[in-house]
Amino acid sequence: MKNTKNKRLFANAKKVIPGGVNSPVRAFNAVDASPIFIEKAKGQYLYDADGNKYIDYCLSWGPMILGHANKDVLASVKKTMANGTSYGIPTELETKLAEKVVAAFDSIDKVRLVSSGTEAVMTAIRLARGTTGRDKIVKFVGCYHGHVDHMLVSAGSGLMTLGSPSSPGVPKDFTKHTILVPYNDLDALKKAFAKYSDSIAAVIVEPVAGNMGTIVPPKSFLKGISTLCKKNKSLLIFDEVICGFRLAYGGAQTIFGIKPDITTLGKIIGGGFPIGAIGGKAKIMNNLSPNGAVYQAGTLSGNPVCVSAGLETLKILKTNNPYPKLEKMTAAFCTAISETLTSKSVPHTINRIGSMFTLFFTDEPVTDFASAMKCDTAKYASYFRQMLNAGIYLPPSQFEANFISTAHKKTDLNKTIAALKKVKL
Ligand SMILES: *Cc1c(COP(=O)(O)O)cnc(C)c1O
Repeated sequence: MKNTKNKRLFANAKKVIPGGVNSPVRAFNAVDASPIFIEKAKGQYLYDADGNKYIDYCLSWGPMILGHANKDVLASVKKTMANGTSYGIPTELETKLAEKVVAAFDSIDKVRLVSSGTEAVMTAIRLARGTTGRDKIVKFVGCYHGHVDHMLVSAGSGLMTLGSPSSPGVPKDFTKHTILVPYNDLDALKKAFAKYSDSIAAVIVEPVAGNMGTIVPPKSFLKGISTLCKKNKSLLIFDEVICGFRLAYGGAQTIFGIKPDITTLGKIIGGGFPIGAIGGKAKIMNNLSPNGAVYQAGTLSGNPVCVSAGLETLKILKTNNPYPKLEKMTAAFCTAISETLTSKSVPHTINRIGSMFTLFFTDEPVTDFASAMKCDTAKYASYFRQMLNAGIYLPPSQFEANFISTAHKKTDLNKTIAALKKVKL
């Protein structure tokens, strides 16, 4: 693999951008490599500055479920852009996207659009606190909810691979209302409720964890959280920024049959543009300003270009219903990965749901942060680098989800398995 221009571009970037990147995991530190710089992407492929082509299993961390540069999404964006790119005044497009989200989720009557998943979570938590008049939030260890100050406690991937469980710059006072509980541990949650009973505003959870690697909980875990929340008059927040429209058109909550009070969305609903959303029952959502007193605003919220890309993406997902096919392809792919590694006697565990999965280099089950931490990250780094050399782009950290798009073909998956067969681990 040629890698000279990539390296030069990274050196230039480091002079003017902290660490040379605008989001830490992109620096490839966790896989002991130098980042590639992308020149273009089409369908399932990425092309870097040195002319290398890769099959992409990261897909911009999830949003590109239709693959890159989907022609219908691009056409819709171009049409909108020709009429201007931002007004700071309402457009009908926003209502149309909100209608789609409301139709997709039984738990959602109203939606507020923002510009990132982080912003969505920030707003969801403020809304939960404002609605209940309580301060405390329960968060699960290893779940990531964006880089909001009071959520930066044991917060998954980027922070895990940087080896910092929290971040300097976040005052202790800001996180003192965040209660940490291990993922998949209902007893610990019960204890938290017993101790703080009437001061817990909300429990926030990734209904399928994606930011310590993929972890699929049993339904009983999510059902148990929901029951405890109801009993204690606390709100349940599902952070579906990754799994909304990824696992099913109505997200993880549709698959598990559980209705949270508030849902946060992002990634796929922007079709590759910056977006986030908060949805829930009208009674709760009406507490947001200007209806209610819980303040929230945004200069570029509901930006017409982002909304057009999201709207077109959702239209295609609704019309084509690619989920059964994605599920089948990904299941077969994961079986092939596992068989290949077994034949090489490489200890591994694969967690998967729908088109989202993680290959963990450990032979023990991965069900929470502690078990994820048992992975051989040096082995993952070696695997990542060898696959990159063979034209396969994987997430540059052990603790991330892999994705397959509707653009991926069987031949791509076969090529990937052929590359894996040659990898020395
Ligand atoms: C990506 C992600 C976020 C943050 O979204 P940004 O758009 O990166 O701010 C929040 N929650 C979850 C579960 C995510 O995966």
